[in-house]
Amino acid sequence: VATYREASPEQAAFLTSLIDAGLLLDTGAPGLLGQGPAFDDVREAFTAAVTRTSGSDPVEAMRFPPLTSTFEIEKNGYLSSFPHLAGSVFSFEGNDAQALELEGRAARHEDWSEFQSKTDAVLLPAACYPVYPQIARRGPLPRDGVIVDTGSAWVFRNEPSGDPARMRSFHMREFVRIGDPGDVATFRDLWLERTLGLFGRLGLVAESEVASDPFFGRVGRMLAANQKEQELKFELVAMVGGPEPTAIASFNYHQDHFTQVYEIGLEDGGIAHTGCVAFGIERVTLALFRAHGLDPQAWPPEVRAELWP
Ligand code: ATP
Ligand code: ZN
Repeated sequence: VATYREASPEQAAFLTSLIDAGLLLDTGAPGLLGQGPAFDDVREAFTAAVTRTSGSDPVEAMRFPPLTSTFEIEKNGYLSSFPHLAGSVFSFEGNDAQALELEGRAARHEDWSEFQSKTDAVLLPAACYPVYPQIARRGPLPRDGVIVDTGSAWVFRNEPSGDPARMRSFHMREFVRIGDPGDVATFRDLWLERTLGLFGRLGLVAESEVASDPFFGRVGRMLAANQKEQELKFELVAMVGGPEPTAIASFNYHQDHFTQVYEIGLEDGGIAHTGCVAFGIERVTLALFRAHGLDPQAWPPEVRAELWP
């Protein structure tokens, strides 16, 4: 079992108030929270506001299930960088006697994992991962590259916590830019500006910070330091469960990591890079409840107008 992160008193109180108000639904497993009607309304409204923020960009929609191919996360390096966050699907493979034994142990809540075998599916850890192999299949990219909108995808990261802002299963909405390095950098800066504007109109106090990914282990600490030094990742942080601000969106420049792995290049022989902007949809939704109170009907009219124009 992954290490459980205890909530701070402030985070625990926020979670209790959300559950008491019917906004979140307790499933009994930490980090796996259901969503009531008012929470769901705000979450969908924010997703639609993000769509409006993308304006007239030539975005291509791609939707993927919350499970993805084991082969791809073996190939793209996820398991070396984030083995501690990955979740994989195992399933029964056995005979009648083993099925009976499994059933008996399960009924007593004992360990039945020895009857489960690895499958070709893993839980999707980031919305953008299935996009790169799709783009690679098309062959060389047009000069202007592509922008892909993943929509709100369910993703999984095994980091159980009592902080409502740290879920194990949540929605991530990403816009993925693949193309000329200069275009990728411009895209990231444009979205940082756009998103600051959007959060401002939503009454969220968000600040931009240079950030790093939660790479695993000793080598991971070096990777994180390097990522920060090169300013490859920015996050917008806002107050969610407190006491510290939490990242509600991130802006990532992967350089040639994915284009090397998937051999993606430009039509004219130029090098392609990738970047993505990722919204943590539940975190933004929680930040809105935190900033404006638990009843969306009573939120400031300008905030409501931005969400429900
Ligand atoms: P990359 O594509 O470089 O691997 P990413 O941008 O896709 O990274 P993150 O930056 O790790 O992924 O996460 C994106 C956003 O998802 C974060 O800014 C945050 O808002 C949200 N998020 C991350 N972890 C959690 C969590 N445990 N619970 C809720 N939201 C989360
Ligand atoms: Zn991404």
